[in-house]
Amino acid sequence: MKCLVLFPPQSMPENPYLSTPIIKGILNANGHDTDVMDINLSFYNYILNPEFIKKTLNNLFVDYEKNAEEIFNQYDESKCISEYPEDFQNKYLKYKKIKEIDKQQASEQIDQVENCVKIIKAGTKTYLKKDVMLARINIWTLLGYLFLPYFDVKALNDKYFYFIRNFEQLNEFIVDESKNIFYKFYEDIIPEMIEKNPDYIGISICAQSQLLPGLTLAMLLKQKTKAHINIGGSYFSRLKETVQNRPEIFKRFIDTIIYEEGEKPILELMKYLEGKTDIEKVPNLIYLKDGKVQINERTKTMPLNELPPPDFSDLPIDSYYTDEIILPLLAERGCYWAKCTFCDVCYTGNKYDFKDPSKIVSEIIELQKTVNFSKVFFVCEAMSSAYLRKLSNEILKSPLKINFMIYTRIEKEFTEELLKLAKSAGLVEMLWGVESVNERILKLMNKTKFTDKAERLEIIKTAHKLGIENTCFLMLGFPTETKEEAMETINFAKENAEYIKSPLLAKYLVKEHSPISEKFKEYSISEIGDKDEFDLFYYSHQTVEGMTYEESGELVNDFLQELYTSGEIPFANLHDAAFSSTFWGF
Ligand code: SF4
Repeated sequence: MKCLVLFPPQSMPENPYLSTPIIKGILNANGHDTDVMDINLSFYNYILNPEFIKKTLNNLFVDYEKNAEEIFNQYDESKCISEYPEDFQNKYLKYKKIKEIDKQQASEQIDQVENCVKIIKAGTKTYLKKDVMLARINIWTLLGYLFLPYFDVKALNDKYFYFIRNFEQLNEFIVDESKNIFYKFYEDIIPEMIEKNPDYIGISICAQSQLLPGLTLAMLLKQKTKAHINIGGSYFSRLKETVQNRPEIFKRFIDTIIYEEGEKPILELMKYLEGKTDIEKVPNLIYLKDGKVQINERTKTMPLNELPPPDFSDLPIDSYYTDEIILPLLAERGCYWAKCTFCDVCYTGNKYDFKDPSKIVSEIIELQKTVNFSKVFFVCEAMSSAYLRKLSNEILKSPLKINFMIYTRIEKEFTEELLKLAKSAGLVEMLWGVESVNERILKLMNKTKFTDKAERLEIIKTAHKLGIENTCFLMLGFPTETKEEAMETINFAKENAEYIKSPLLAKYLVKEHSPISEKFKEYSISEIGDKDEFDLFYYSHQTVEGMTYEESGELVNDFLQELYTSGEIPFANLHDAAFSSTFWGF
């Protein structure tokens, strides 16, 4: 079969993603000629173009001249904007933002865009360098202009709501070209996809920010080709229920969805497309039959040791928005701990699995021969100390010279001796799931049994002392958490800024399939969002005690505001990931 696998916008265009190279690896290894395209990267190249931005701004001003006055006249200043219908609010706020644009300044910013892109590509490691920061602010402002015509979609985000709340809304934005920035771009890039003449097109959707662009792409491809359009990626795995009641998804956008891990199912899907098996026999497949959505049984995941190496050969590695390519690789799958009450990692029932360290070391050595990268990011949920030890020993035994980063959580087993060993093997950064430093909250989260604040800090300090950078994920607004408890976590980050490269703050959200969502009342949550209003994965929730979602959002915003405007919190080498998705316009 001739296959084409696509990674749609919107994600950060700073590094390649792993999902499509994994699928290319497995399809090619099984005789299917497969191409991969990073449409996300192409999208940013397309829109960060002076001519495109000028044209968008001109259209904005024309729209403003034609329609703004009428909207402003309808607005009664004595009333609060939130008293108006949502459609009016969006129009009013959009025209207000257009009014604020200084045309002269915008024109200078547009003239600078190519230079800013060069600066960002040459210096993403050091966000606090003044020229990089200024370039980023310029690009951020221009992206803000570019998305203004589609303000209805963005406005939802501005109000602490999710990007798109439900399928009805998603559908509305997909089909309405005036609310969908991706149409024009796709019109220009789809001929390149069609030229490849694929029998199968897979679209990898791993995040909510890819839903609108991913399904728009699927719809246009379905209209323009006879190829089988299939969605894979982790996002739809969590939307099985939503999809089950939405046969229109299959009529309008796609042919099939593969839920959960796709390696075995995609090979069976190929057999079905070649006429060698029945669709009912393709595991993990969702499709339409006789007008009804069918969900086939899941199969066991392919052991990581049997998975061929990911194939990055189609990706334009030197074009990403970075000066340092970090290659994502999978060493472990699932989570060895798997007990945190807010986390949905266990929802598939798949057991923790890992790739033999010697195998992964050989794969990296092979990849180094063809791909130009300087670091590896093991994108596992949380690397265990035992695996880190085996991996480090294996690297040290081999000729491999590489720097690597890991996600993990703070455990006693990360001793100075282990961290020294890992450092000598190339460990340069640990992204810790710290979440909170308050003992009561950590216990409620079931994050760890190791809750002593001072001892936990000691591990972070030791890593810092050895030259390993620390990024800390922090979560605010866990059910029943008070403002004082949340401040304890914020103050921990501020007071220990010299040991922390970057603090990544997030607001707690109830995740469907997490232990809390099953018994939310036990966590003093009075209700979780109406499934009809929020059918795209995340729930909203109301708390009986502790901070509300909005209050925790304000704490996060205050912290970021302080961080970025006063510059008084001296984090060691601030990485912008906390702001990155906002920065890239999603
Ligand atoms: S939050 Fe991290 S450590 Fe906790 S269960 Fe989920 S993946 Fe594992």
